[in-house]
Amino acid sequence: MEYTVSKKLFTEARKYIPGGVNSPVRACKSVGCDPVFITKARGASVFDADGNEYVDFVCSWGPMIMGHAHPDIIAALHGTAVNGTSFGAPTPTEIELATMVVEALPSIEKVRFVSSGTEATMSAVRLARGYTGRNVVVKFDGCYHGHADSFLVKAGSGVITLGIPGSPGVPDDIVKNTISIPYNNQEVLEKTLRDEELDIACVIIEPVAGNMGCVAPQPGFLEKLRSLTEELGIVLIFDEVITGFRLSYGGAQEYYNIIPDLTCLGKIIGGGLPVGAYGGKAEIMDNIAPDGPVYQAGTLSGNPLAMAAGIAALKLLQRDGFYDELEEKAGGFAERLQNVAGASGIPVQLNRVGSLMTSFFTSEQVTDFDSAMKADTDMYAKHYRQMLSKGIYLAPSQFEVAFISAAQSKNDLEKAVKMTEWSFKNLL
Ligand SMILES: *Cc1c(COP(=O)(O)O)cnc(C)c1O
Repeated sequence: MEYTVSKKLFTEARKYIPGGVNSPVRACKSVGCDPVFITKARGASVFDADGNEYVDFVCSWGPMIMGHAHPDIIAALHGTAVNGTSFGAPTPTEIELATMVVEALPSIEKVRFVSSGTEATMSAVRLARGYTGRNVVVKFDGCYHGHADSFLVKAGSGVITLGIPGSPGVPDDIVKNTISIPYNNQEVLEKTLRDEELDIACVIIEPVAGNMGCVAPQPGFLEKLRSLTEELGIVLIFDEVITGFRLSYGGAQEYYNIIPDLTCLGKIIGGGLPVGAYGGKAEIMDNIAPDGPVYQAGTLSGNPLAMAAGIAALKLLQRDGFYDELEEKAGGFAERLQNVAGASGIPVQLNRVGSLMTSFFTSEQVTDFDSAMKADTDMYAKHYRQMLSKGIYLAPSQFEVAFISAAQSKNDLEKAVKMTEWSFKNLL
């Protein structure tokens, strides 16, 4: 494959944009090559500036569960745009999407829309602090909740990928109010939450971790977290920015039947436009301005285009059998990959929950951040480059998930299996 145009664009981009990208992982540093610049996408495919076509497993990091440029979403956007793109005033479409979200997620009685997942988690934590009058946030090593100051302590996603241990620019005064503990460790969890000196306002968790690669909650872990937080009056926040409308229509909370106090959403609910949301019990949500004293606002919040795209996306997901079909497709694909890995002799742990999966290059089970970090990132880097060269677009980091979408056909997945087989043969 030729990457001449992408290379030129990257040189140009780096002159004006830090690292040439507007989000760090896109620069592909950890996989040892330059990024391809995407100019077009349709269904399961993305096309780069040199005209190369790829089967896309990044899916814009989650939103594109229906594939790219779905006609219903595009039509909703056209229909909305002609009537104006932003008013900074209430619109009927906000009520429509809010109603859909409240009906879908068991924990949500009221919801506030924002413009990104980062804003959603940041605002949910402010609300939890305001509501409880306490300061400390407990999170889990390797979980990513966007880039707000409080969360850049042992965070996942790009923070691990680039090996940044937190971030300069985040004052110690803020870091000292964040406690990060191991995922899936009930003992440490209980000891931390029961420590009365800690003044804990909330616990925030990805109910399925997706930002250290895919790591499932072990049986009983979320249950324990729910019962402890309930007993101790600590606000439990599920960060469902990835899992919301992904694992089931009601998110991970429906999938595992655990009801958090607050839930953060993003990605899928925007249908590919910039959206986030946080919601939960009315008793807590009523503390937000203008009804309550906890301030949070946004010029483009509830933006008509974003609402229209979100409504169109959710309508598509309401189709009977949608999640069963996605599960079956993802399950079959994972099984084929597992067989390929087994036959190759390459040490691979394939973790999967629904349409989220990660092949970790390690011989040990991956259940938390420490075990994820044992993965051979050089091997992943080579695999990434080999797959790219064969038209398979994976996440440019070992510590991200592959997303299965409704648009990927049997042929697309079969191609990915074949190329994986070829790539594994050439890894050693
Ligand atoms: C992507 C993500 C975020 C941040 O969302 P942005 O829209 O990138 O700000 C927060 N939490 C989780 C779990 C995510 O995957």
